[in-house]
Amino acid sequence: MIGMAKPFVGQEEIDAVVAVMKSGMLACGAVVTEFEEKFADYIGMNAGVASCNGTTALHVALLSLGISEGDKVLTTPFTFIASSNSLLFNRATPVFVDIDPKTYLLDPEKLEAYLEEHYEPSMKAILVVHLFGLPCDMPAIMKIADKYNLKVIEDCAQSHGSEINGKKAGSFGDVSCFSFYPTKNMTTGEGGITLYKDSELAELGKKYINHGRVDQYLHDVLGFNYRMTNIAAAIGLEQLKRVDGFNDNRRKNAKIYDEKLANNDAIKLPFVPEGYKHVYHQYTIALNGVDREALQAHMLKNGVGSAVVYPFSMNEQPFYKDVCQFDNLSHAENAARVVLSIPVHPALTEDEVLKVIDVINSFVN
Ligand SMILES: *Cc1c(COP(=O)(O)O)cnc(C)c1O
Repeated sequence: MIGMAKPFVGQEEIDAVVAVMKSGMLACGAVVTEFEEKFADYIGMNAGVASCNGTTALHVALLSLGISEGDKVLTTPFTFIASSNSLLFNRATPVFVDIDPKTYLLDPEKLEAYLEEHYEPSMKAILVVHLFGLPCDMPAIMKIADKYNLKVIEDCAQSHGSEINGKKAGSFGDVSCFSFYPTKNMTTGEGGITLYKDSELAELGKKYINHGRVDQYLHDVLGFNYRMTNIAAAIGLEQLKRVDGFNDNRRKNAKIYDEKLANNDAIKLPFVPEGYKHVYHQYTIALNGVDREALQAHMLKNGVGSAVVYPFSMNEQPFYKDVCQFDNLSHAENAARVVLSIPVHPALTEDEVLKVIDVINSFVN
């Protein structure tokens, strides 16, 4: 079976975990601090606050920026539910703006048009998601944010190491958030990190992940226990050394798909704008006139996994109806009907990639 994900754990990760176990310092300590510094450095931000998963990293990012009840945040409806749920945790309202159907990412032109028509002072921030490993058009987003005085949060849970003209996704906005779940581009088991441009804001983030603690048993804000463990950070430090190699493998697999699935009207391939480095958390095609469920069943029968990422636009989630705001999300709703992600993870062999291609072609052609 060729699956959708296969996390790589080497001897170095195992040795690093054993060393933490032997040290006796299992919870949040010096190893976490080292991981925070090295990961922030890798992305190009000034400080990091590690947490227990990517969802908490988003929650803490918004807490640090002071996003709270009555605030509105502009964001994409085509993403994993954690992105916009983080707004609901803070009683803020997600304002969904449609995606660009070429990239599946928040469309800066639609964002600007929406703001021109609907801007109100309660709109405090833009939450972008670099979905599938492709960065959003951050130069355009930052210009809009500047014009309307909005903070920018980057959800980089799928985009570790992706770049625009050599600058990494996660280094453009005020705050950026990563997940280290095992299926992501690198892992700590479970884990997350919030990166900050402003180091003082990071101090606030550190407080929020640790019960709002200012001194022993003294707390000046409502905080949470979202701390990362030294065990997870030890895995992360080793994975950080490998992430560029993992991404190279993903990109190599994607290149074979790009070449061998091209020139087929039934399949729309991922689009990569000039100067962008896509890190293919997912290799996502869009089907045209092909029965998606039937194709998935055919692939499964032939030992090839696939996944619909994502089957719903966020406004279609049952409990979102009364808690969000939007105009027209037809591109996001349509994407949810036609996208299909196929295996692209770094452990695939070339033969496996070629088999995926054969199995798809034998159904589509
Ligand atoms: C995985 C993911 C998250 C949440 O990360 P967890 O570590 O699973 O909590 C948030 N946003 C996006 C886009 C994701 O893919």
